[in-house]
Amino acid sequence: ARRARMEERLLGARFRYLNQQLYTGSSQDAARLFRADPAAFHLYHRGFERQVQRWPERPVQRIVRYLRRRPASLVVADFGCGDCTLAASVKNQVHCFDLVPLSPRVTVCDMAKVPLAAESVDVAVFCLALMGTNLQEILGEANRVLKLGGTLMVAEVASRFEDTRAFLKAMTQLGFRTVSKDLSSSYFYVLEFAKTGPARPGPAPGLRLRPCLYKRR
Ligand code: SAH
Repeated sequence: ARRARMEERLLGARFRYLNQQLYTGSSQDAARLFRADPAAFHLYHRGFERQVQRWPERPVQRIVRYLRRRPASLVVADFGCGDCTLAASVKNQVHCFDLVPLSPRVTVCDMAKVPLAAESVDVAVFCLALMGTNLQEILGEANRVLKLGGTLMVAEVASRFEDTRAFLKAMTQLGFRTVSKDLSSSYFYVLEFAKTGPARPGPAPGLRLRPCLYKRR
């Protein structure tokens, strides 16, 4: 029993360390990290699952509900899809992108550079997946692949938002108008945007999210 407890602790420590690296480096760093050490990726996912199970609701279920209310003909891109729960739960065509394939549906790539044509999808999703420090590049990629008027859905840990108004303002510069925001959960926010046009270049200082660092338990 003691040994099992020690192993648990070690896994927890490695998870927190990996998690911190994902939130404090760029998406390219994350891609390099997991390419070099796929076992780290699986460990990360076990830790992630354990965290999310503590929450009253899984954010991805909110995205599933949202998509079920809209036509199944909409083409979806899921950035940082994890185990592809979203693709498995809706009738839509869903392009799934992640760094390592947890499911055969996954196209392995850095989400800052996905193999989709410009203006080819109706809905882009980031569910707990805005991880790199190069947020502007990542959201710029979502803008590129979205059709004009297309939807961007973001579900993120509530405590990551330093200044939600500044964040939403920065999003307008990236070519996204806020359609709805659900800030009611103390765990995560769900934000819906519509693409108004291409991202405007230049710095977007309000586009900042705190890293999501988990406490030792
Ligand atoms: N959307 C899923 C998983 C969230 S965990 C869900 O809600 O259940 C965040 C996911 O983003 C992880 O699977 C991680 O591997 C992925 N990710 C992080 N950085 C990435 C990058 N640069 N490119 C692609 N996927 C990335």
